[in-house]
Amino acid sequence: MIMKETITVDGKEFPVSTEKSDYFGLCPNCKDYSGYLNIGKANWMVCHDCKAKWLVGEDLFSSWRYETEEDWEKNYEQIKAYEEVEPILPTYDELSELGQ
Ligand SMILES: [Zn+2]
Repeated sequence: MIMKETITVDGKEFPVSTEKSDYFGLCPNCKDYSGYLNIGKANWMVCHDCKAKWLVGEDLFSSWRYETEEDWEKNYEQIKAYEEVEPILPTYDELSELGQ
């Protein structure tokens, strides 16, 4: 996963992958994702369009180490109302069909 770009959510920058990947799953509604954020060392993928979130693991992205409890509180506040969904894990062929 190549971390180059960032998205800005509520004035805070989050790194996003420049490569669309099925590695962490995609939003089942729109087959896309907005990025990820951390709550502590738990890594959540989120789709801001659909207000969906899914937990991908812990400590997968090292960025949490540079964040503070305040950041995690903000992240939590941001996604606590999001629906926890089962991400889709498309096959390579399906990803091609989606144009990703
Ligand atoms: Zn979505």
